[in-house]
Amino acid sequence: MQDNQQYDAIIIGSGIGGLTTAVLLSKTFNQKVLLLEKHFVAGGQTHDFIRTHNGKKYRWDVGIHYIGEMKKNLFSRKIFDFLTDGKLEWQKMPYYFEKFVYPDFSFRQASNPKDFQKDLIQKFPDEEEAILQYFKDVKKVPKWYQSKISESFMPSFFSNLKNLFSDNYEHIALQTTQEYMDAHFKSEQLKALLTSTWGDYGLPPNQSAFVMHCLVVRSYLYGGYYPVEGAGEIAKNMIPIIEKHGGKVLTNTSVTEIIINRGKASGVKIKKDNKETSIYSDVIISDTGAYNTYIKLIPEDIPIPFRDEIKQATGNLSSLTLHVGFKENPKKLGVEGENIWIFSSYDHNSVFQESMKQEKIRSAFVSFPSLKDQKAENHTAEIIAFTNYDFYQKWRNSTWLKRDESYKKHKEEIAQQLLDITEKHLPGFKNIVDFTDLATPLTMEFFTNWEKGGFYGIPPTPNRFKYKWINPKTPIKNLYLTGTDAATLGVLGALMGGLFTTASIKGLRGMMKIMKALKSN
Ligand SMILES: Cc1cc2nc3c(=O)[nH]c(=O)nc-3n(C[C@H](O)[C@H](O)[C@H](O)COP(=O)(O)OP(=O)(O)OC[C@H]3O[C@@H](n4cnc5c(N)ncnc54)[C@H](O)[C@@H]3O)c2cc1C
Repeated sequence: MQDNQQYDAIIIGSGIGGLTTAVLLSKTFNQKVLLLEKHFVAGGQTHDFIRTHNGKKYRWDVGIHYIGEMKKNLFSRKIFDFLTDGKLEWQKMPYYFEKFVYPDFSFRQASNPKDFQKDLIQKFPDEEEAILQYFKDVKKVPKWYQSKISESFMPSFFSNLKNLFSDNYEHIALQTTQEYMDAHFKSEQLKALLTSTWGDYGLPPNQSAFVMHCLVVRSYLYGGYYPVEGAGEIAKNMIPIIEKHGGKVLTNTSVTEIIINRGKASGVKIKKDNKETSIYSDVIISDTGAYNTYIKLIPEDIPIPFRDEIKQATGNLSSLTLHVGFKENPKKLGVEGENIWIFSSYDHNSVFQESMKQEKIRSAFVSFPSLKDQKAENHTAEIIAFTNYDFYQKWRNSTWLKRDESYKKHKEEIAQQLLDITEKHLPGFKNIVDFTDLATPLTMEFFTNWEKGGFYGIPPTPNRFKYKWINPKTPIKNLYLTGTDAATLGVLGALMGGLFTTASIKGLRGMMKIMKALKSN
């Protein structure tokens, strides 16, 4: 590949983090950005895909089943509108957007904190005071995180001053979610219920930081939203803005090394169409996560003091997703488009531990993309469960779509278990299935390049919020991280990563310029 253009910045990876930084640099600072993507489609975990079966086209998203805070004029919505020139539409999910199903009870979460709180108090009247305190903490604790992340672009004088005056919630934020639950609630049923969405951050209550729990719960207090016409619309509407400012997005282009000279990042080595070449720029930004960036892309002889810490922090957790195409509308099963979380026990910690030891489907998350998108052509569902990457280790060296019969047989067994657990809660589900396709941790690893298919990046333990390297800034001059591992996980976490990275590159004045642009959008 020959590219003699001069780019102001090179971004590795086109997930929402990479795209956000690229559009902010292009649109706010009129910079020419080169975005390099290994996969044949841009968008990272926000890409979607289509399979045709019996003449019907089914579409599924990969890593967005819902996000919160997309009400007009909220900050996250304003950013999304800015990044897509207002062309991306969001559809609100039904008022009861979550359904939690336990063996002996179920609970629906309303898209309003007052009703959610009222419904909880009605079910657990003895714990009213603790419930009210929980809602206060869920709103307050994220402020500790916001103040911490702003240090990445604020001059140290300001951030020291800010810390002096800001309320310090660190001791609450860095407990495990379980520690908070045990200290405040008596009922095991209530503790389980409040932590039902732990799958949204990929660690059960006894391992996750309470601040991560609060960030996720707070973001869904007013319900969930889904992108109209699917997640693919995100990249589709962002790429033209990058191109309009002279930038380029290259897919099928794998970065093999970040070039570092005298302590400064100055370019990348890439592989495209089996040819290797180098491209240079003064700013290099990686959306590939801390593991890929520090362990795989920075040459080993460059000293990085925290490489071992990164290796130890990386987990084995990945996921299985069964993509389902329907012959008929799933509304006939009584669903309206809400997420359904099916659990076999209140004890999320033990279920998680067992699932990491032996592959057996014990719980599942069921989402209905077509019921959340008024423009969907045909009806679909996704059934998701967590699993251990190591169960798939033996097929690691085989190629996507060319894996052997034993892999196919294993996939069939797991697909059946996912269908069985769903059928138990939604009788008639299997009858309307037309097509299924299972994605395994190997699929995740192949398409996103996250180590061991660990798509949430560095797991959100209390330690994650202490590591200095979960930060847009790196110890290498001119090299930045964006996306999940620059901030937090999830689409909104990675999007904020994209914003903070741009602010880290451009400084406080740059951040003010972005804020002004967002305000006048
Ligand atoms: C099954 C599933 C369900 C999810 N559901 C939700 C949800 O409902 N709501 C929510 O908010 N979040 C959800 N998420 C998480 C969310 O999608 C991610 O946290 C977020 O999109 C990550 O964005 P990112 O920019 O950090 O990284 P990614 O989207 O992973 O992008 C990284 C990109 O870098 C590319 N890359 C890696 N290495 C190289 C290289 N060497 N050269 C070139 N390119 C490279 C990859 O191919 C990839 O495109 C889900 C994820 C999954 C997998």
